[in-house]
Amino acid sequence: MNTVELHAIDRNNFENSPKPLSGTAPTDASRSRAWIEVSRDALRHNVRYLQSLLPDHCALMPVVKANAYGHGAGLIAAELNRMGIRSFCVACVSEGIELRRQHISGELLVLGYTHPDQFPLLDQYALTQTVVDHAHALALSAYACSASRPSPLPVHIAVDTGMHRLGEPAEHAARIGEIFTLPGLQVTGMYTHLAAAGGVDAASQSFTLEQINSFYRLAAQTCFPGNRPVRARLHLQASYGILRYPLPDVDCARPGIALYGLLSNAADTRLYADRLRPVLSLRARVAAIHRLSPGESAGYDMAYTATCPTAIATVTIGYADGLPRSLSEGGAAVLLHGQRAPIIGRICMDQLLADVTAIPQTRPGDIATLIGRDGPESISAAGLADACGTITNELLSCLGPRLERLAL
Ligand SMILES: *Cc1c(COP(=O)(O)O)cnc(C)c1O
Repeated sequence: MNTVELHAIDRNNFENSPKPLSGTAPTDASRSRAWIEVSRDALRHNVRYLQSLLPDHCALMPVVKANAYGHGAGLIAAELNRMGIRSFCVACVSEGIELRRQHISGELLVLGYTHPDQFPLLDQYALTQTVVDHAHALALSAYACSASRPSPLPVHIAVDTGMHRLGEPAEHAARIGEIFTLPGLQVTGMYTHLAAAGGVDAASQSFTLEQINSFYRLAAQTCFPGNRPVRARLHLQASYGILRYPLPDVDCARPGIALYGLLSNAADTRLYADRLRPVLSLRARVAAIHRLSPGESAGYDMAYTATCPTAIATVTIGYADGLPRSLSEGGAAVLLHGQRAPIIGRICMDQLLADVTAIPQTRPGDIATLIGRDGPESISAAGLADACGTITNELLSCLGPRLERLAL
């Protein structure tokens, strides 16, 4: 067979192969290597719990940036759309476009900076842009006036109350008031971001209260049209803000990590374990079992050497899937047959090794759990994040595109 024929056959096979859509019911094909299971029940439960902490009129504006913290943005937003949620936050224009391509309806607020070259995409995909400061507002206004558009460009103004990341400083009330009057723009929201709402020490608390106060002082300024930014919805709480700083006068809230049933570290996650339910499980297949004699090593750099007869399983997931390589040293485990199998040696790009000496029934094709429950045992994403010196948010948002996302 020559290469031309080979190519034709491969292409036909590719086109005919039924690629499971992300978010469709699990099939054997989508569970063949390593995958994420998303619990719709847990997601719905968390939405209801967070909503119960907020005033009745306050709308959740879930944060689905970074592929919904690894969970699959299209899948999560579609489920939330079905629950009646009509506003979402994304980090950048490309994330907004991806959600529109997956038929997500409602308001999509871009939280980050957008360069003027991308302003036409805001129109094309009906995205709402954050005004990151006064100069950005002028650029957005200039664009909106030059493009012949039937209605003004919707924007939310970011206000800097102390984080010094994005936003026009809260002290610049007159300049912020001016943004409300710029031609071509319709200010539909105004928000700030709390930098230390997760801290329970006195300094974090007083810093947070000062941020909240300066935001409301600004919102009450008489320089705004109609004494208050009339149609602009006010929002300032992310997950920790919702949990720790209940506020009566908010129109929206922007939960990220808590929506996924977790908080940034294991201790905080445990505190809310009876109220929030983890949405994500991470699983992979066992590819092979090897038996080592004492003195034999396994994996890269001979980092592991057996000291007694040992059975090891090769599990089909690695650091290219987002599992931090530093877990190799962290005493982490996978779950097999409801028991813990310690990860040994170095985590590879596509695979890892686990000690299954104590789980002799392990066979190729078995399902290993990296995050989630298996029988009496469970592994929390927050615990894994602690073990490798990061926060849950980073660990989850690094889970890669090679993983299939399945809604259960
Ligand atoms: C990421 C982000 C959030 C969500 O934060 P969590 O702590 O995950 O709830 C909310 N608002 C802004 C501006 C963000 O950047």
